[in-house]
Amino acid sequence: MEIGSQGAMDVLDPASDTVIASVPMCGASEALSALNSAFEFQPQWEATPPAQRADVLRATAAMVVARKDSLARIITQECGKPLAEAAGEVQYSADYFSSAANEIHALNDTHLDLQRPGVRGVVRHRAVGVCAAITPWNFPLAMLARKVAPALAAGCAQLAKPAEETPLSAFALAEILLECGLPPRCLHVLSGDAKAIATTWLMDGRVRKLSFTGSTDTGRLLLRQCAQEIVRCSMELGGHAAFIILADADIDLAVKGALQAKFRNAGQTCICPNRFLVHESIASEFTARVAVAAAQLKIAPGMEAGSQIGPLIHDAAVEKVRSHVADALARGGKLICGGQTKQLPDLPDRFFEPTVIANCDPSMLCFTQETFGPVIPIMSVTSQKEAIDVANSSPFGLAGYVFGGSDSSTRSVAQQLQCGVVGVNEAAPSNARAPFGGVKYSGYGREGGAWGLMEYVTTQYLALRSLDK
Ligand code: NAP
Repeated sequence: MEIGSQGAMDVLDPASDTVIASVPMCGASEALSALNSAFEFQPQWEATPPAQRADVLRATAAMVVARKDSLARIITQECGKPLAEAAGEVQYSADYFSSAANEIHALNDTHLDLQRPGVRGVVRHRAVGVCAAITPWNFPLAMLARKVAPALAAGCAQLAKPAEETPLSAFALAEILLECGLPPRCLHVLSGDAKAIATTWLMDGRVRKLSFTGSTDTGRLLLRQCAQEIVRCSMELGGHAAFIILADADIDLAVKGALQAKFRNAGQTCICPNRFLVHESIASEFTARVAVAAAQLKIAPGMEAGSQIGPLIHDAAVEKVRSHVADALARGGKLICGGQTKQLPDLPDRFFEPTVIANCDPSMLCFTQETFGPVIPIMSVTSQKEAIDVANSSPFGLAGYVFGGSDSSTRSVAQQLQCGVVGVNEAAPSNARAPFGGVKYSGYGREGGAWGLMEYVTTQYLALRSLDK
């Protein structure tokens, strides 16, 4: 067993509390050694031709796919999501590597006609320098892939700190990158004391960029640290998506979409809809149908065949969901299905039943905070304007959904939502080729495609007067 300067920590399967591994508990000393190594190597990686860097990324994408089964098992074991979803996450992670490799041409110089005799302009995209990534437990492979792939493509050495619950996916990815030819000093993954590691990296002055995915509170704290050394930041923070269903929506599609968007990872994703705003003319029918479908989902450990709802990540997560349900019911919400945990024999009390609550309103906790659990709170609305106003009243603005029968009105509603990603009659908008990120308390910066790559470069403009004859 490897030990860090602060000892070791166990990684638990949230479905059973079984110890699946022990990993080093690193602290400031390992963080500093990793930074020293990355900083010294940075110029060499930056000078590596982009095509060569792209080769490493393409090989990584292929190997991630080739190891889909084993990676999916690691994800399910440490974060609890059903194995089929974990396999989807593996493919999604591989896509970030292919996408970064395909977009590498965006780093080419741009030539400007300055309309001044004898002087021309060249715009270069230079690697920002050593980058730090801090990632959450809910997509332990994909959230890291989204950061590592563009950083390496841009020519940045990368430091990474995965969540304490889920370091194994990160280590597995690092191993694959090394096998695919990444020089070891380009990537350092440290498990351990988040505060000590982050403080060492962010207050040093040599880390030039932080990409953080996690809660808004932690994001704020890290931003304050980054202010000291003017570290550039991308902040992928909490979400509180609205799911708007217009009067003319196809209810079958809306029910299917609601299940898909809401119950992925038992409701523990940043783009899970939290506020269902349904036109009054169809609210009862939607509520009844979504409840019937939700109650049929199979609750079981993620490794069990056919599992659709796995455990919540830890007991604190269960308590949060319980408190949101209790608050909604105390304030006049009507429980349609679920509302409690399902005790499975010999397993921790962490499996929350898919829950549907009608008669919700914006005063409830589930309408003001991210629940991060399998709860569908439904509010009936009288107009598109009311739906848009309620949706935009949240300080969060990551994702939103609009389901309706007319392309022009669904698109018009989508364009009025204050959020970075909107699914229009589509419940799975995330795609490695597209920009992903939020506004307001959900942060800033984009991941995916050329937008993600550009987060890791600085722009240098040269005004060139040539003296050559
Ligand atoms: P979290 O508590 O903020 O933790 C995220 C990461 O930050 C972990 O690696 C954690 O390390 C680290 N961290 C915590 N405190 C820290 C500190 N004081 N200094 C430095 N690092 C610190 O968030 P979470 O509960 O794991 O993740 C759920 C949140 O992430 C939700 O709000 C969700 O919406 C959001 N999320 C957003 C996106 C997006 O793309 N916008 C995607 C996924 C999730 P330890 O685990 O070691 O404490």
